[in-house]
Amino acid sequence: MTVNLQESGNAAGGLRGKTMLYQQLVEHASGTVASVVGNVINVTIIGVVFFASLPAWVMVIGYASISCAVINRLLTSKRILGADEADGEKLRALNWHVQTSAALFGIIWGVLVGGLSVIATPGEMMFLGIVGSGMMSAGTLTYRAVPKAARLFVGLIGICCFAGLLSVGTLPAYASCGLLACFVFVLLSTINRGSNEFADRFHRDLALAESSETIRLLLNDYEEQGSDWLLEVGGDGVIKRPCARFAEAARRPLETLVDLPLMTLFADGPERKRLAEHFAAGRAFRAATVSLAIDGQLLWWSISARPKGSLGEGYRGMITDITAQRQAEDKVSYMAHYDGLTNLPNRFRFNETLYRVLGRAKGSTGLMYLDLDNFKAINDTLGHPVGDLLLQGVARRLEDCVSARETVARLGGDEFAILVPSDRLGRIDAMAAEIVEALGRPFSLGDHDVVIATSIGIACAPEDATTADHLLRNADLALYAAKSMGRNRAIRFEPGMDEAAQARRMVELDLRGALGKNEMRLHYQPLINVETSETNGYEALIRWEHPVRGIVMPATFIPIAEETGMIIQIGEWVIRQALCDLATWPEELTVSVNLSPLQMRSPTLISTLVHAIAANQIDASRVCIEITESVLMQDSDANIETLHKLRELGIQIALDDFGTGYSSLNYLRSFPFSKIKIDRCFISDIDTREDCQAIVRSVVSLANSLGMSTTAEGVERAEQVTQLRLQGCGEVQGFLYSKAIPADQLSNLRSPTAGGSNSLLQFGDAQRERAKAHKEGVAAVRRKAG
Ligand code: C2E
Ligand code: CA
Ligand code: CA
Repeated sequence: MTVNLQESGNAAGGLRGKTMLYQQLVEHASGTVASVVGNVINVTIIGVVFFASLPAWVMVIGYASISCAVINRLLTSKRILGADEADGEKLRALNWHVQTSAALFGIIWGVLVGGLSVIATPGEMMFLGIVGSGMMSAGTLTYRAVPKAARLFVGLIGICCFAGLLSVGTLPAYASCGLLACFVFVLLSTINRGSNEFADRFHRDLALAESSETIRLLLNDYEEQGSDWLLEVGGDGVIKRPCARFAEAARRPLETLVDLPLMTLFADGPERKRLAEHFAAGRAFRAATVSLAIDGQLLWWSISARPKGSLGEGYRGMITDITAQRQAEDKVSYMAHYDGLTNLPNRFRFNETLYRVLGRAKGSTGLMYLDLDNFKAINDTLGHPVGDLLLQGVARRLEDCVSARETVARLGGDEFAILVPSDRLGRIDAMAAEIVEALGRPFSLGDHDVVIATSIGIACAPEDATTADHLLRNADLALYAAKSMGRNRAIRFEPGMDEAAQARRMVELDLRGALGKNEMRLHYQPLINVETSETNGYEALIRWEHPVRGIVMPATFIPIAEETGMIIQIGEWVIRQALCDLATWPEELTVSVNLSPLQMRSPTLISTLVHAIAANQIDASRVCIEITESVLMQDSDANIETLHKLRELGIQIALDDFGTGYSSLNYLRSFPFSKIKIDRCFISDIDTREDCQAIVRSVVSLANSLGMSTTAEGVERAEQVTQLRLQGCGEVQGFLYSKAIPADQLSNLRSPTAGGSNSLLQFGDAQRERAKAHKEGVAAVRRKAG
């Protein structure tokens, strides 16, 4: 671009010297006809006035010389008009011709007027004065473009007339000499000024031409290389002088654009209407966006334009194709508002809708908050691609369950929400039930058939809440309640849920300081050998001795500790404390410690155990870790690896609560457990129900075949023990023997049967003793706590 400008500058600079002279000569030639006519008329009149007083030969010489000068001027002018403006040589020669012609005219007229004034009568003197001054003035005009010629013409006439007047020798003649001098001076300065003005005008015109040229070059360059193009619209709204870029952008032949009404290019809509309003208003406008549908593709143009000249003359401006920018913006906006995986509205968009609905007067709406149970386990075990397919499948089923008037959104992870309009609130419970049922049907995802369950929390505005945040919170509370009530159900929000949540938050706050304040205790429940009735060991069960709440059971605070991550520190404390207590017990006794799934993923778990074993100098085989199936459902590979490391250390691993999970038998195969603890639900009716007996029998025989031992949990009656012995179960645990009691109250560590009786058949006495011991234990704890 710089090069172009310079080139154009140089070209203009080169033109300057030549064209100035050319312009001067052309301007001079343009006055030739008037000058010739003036000369002929003047010389004719002079001839008439002095016809009688002049000899014939003078008249002939006068006419002949004027004729020669006129012819010379005509010829010079003709040559000037035919000259090439770039031919400097010729122009300079012509310039010289013009000057000699002016000198010739000056001498002829000077001699004529000056000479005649010597013989003129006073009346003729006046006539000659008018002719002389008229000729000088006319010469100033006709030679104004060539100042040298003008000066020669005026100067020579002036000198001759001056000489003539001096030779007259009268006082009026002398006075006329003075006036003539002043007149010549005025004319010469007029010539100078005229010449300067001519030069100025010339340079101004030249500069204008140069910048026009530069602009033209720039625009050409712009149109060829840029993404924008020029727009020119006539007063009647039709396209004028469209460029190739315009035709290319409009994907039409160039000629079809000429005189085409601009508006017919654009798709109908509010943008087109706005553009028409801009044109109608006759004002300049910027970046007006319009769309065009071409070959099934939607293009976007941005137009800036300003009116040409006066109103109604049309517009001139610029068009930019902003299709790519617009598409990028649309994509970003879509991504900001929709979930890329399921194409459902995302949390942001959902919130926007919710705020809008609730912002209306009497804003009434229903909100369903959904959460997939076990999604994480599926994602972890079957892999993220399967998890993604599941989420997509869930999204489609949700859409199938509701009408187009409901808004289904994915709020993130496995959380979905549905907004139900006010006139359909009557169906919200039925809708929720349908969703639970629909999502409960198996999903076929590639090679896997996956079954999930859903929990739904429902809250409605304005009954349950009037603001979006409040409504979301209450739906979340209802969802939480649905989960804690056993999942796979929809629950409506109730005011009590809020209080439960508040209470839970209070527990959470207190729990944070519990370890530091030394409020945690371990109680121990014996594990009894069915055959010998001796105690094999104890299970450590945590208790929180709260200064105000009293003894808080683990069911209340362990879930909170798990959710908040506090379980890691609490669990480590349990390990250290249990192993410390174990060190004081007889060698044959073991201790069982419960481990939460989160602890299994803790990088400090193994080192905590190793340190506690080493610090207390105990045999690792006396330590048993109890885990539930959920540990194997989440991050199973990593967790099984950890379990193997624990086994390598010599630690025993028990599968707790066996029978309450999903596919128990599979988990039994996934890791060689030391022990299976059969859940209380199979034990409670084992003395009366045959199906329970059958289940326990098969679990025991399976465990035996896998080299694992079995423990029956929750044994409360001697009849249960009889049955368990019949089914081959080796170990029992339950209130029949003892509740969990503090370590310092474990008196006869090896024998659980207080009063020295080892016979389990004397269960009536034993039970009474257990209950008494338990009461005493609890009383002791209360005394301590309070
Ligand atoms: P769990 O591991 O299944 O522990 C057995 C639970 O059954 C204990 O309740 C125990 O008191 C109770 N139990 C024992 N015998 C009987 C009986 O004959 N009848 C009835 N009805 N219940 C009996 P607890 O102490 O309230 O513990 C509840 C759960 O809390 C435990 O279930 C365990 O999952 C968890 N837990 C306890 N201590 C800890 C701990 O230190 N860490 C972790 N992560 N969890 C713990
Ligand atoms: Ca346990
Ligand atoms: Ca258990």
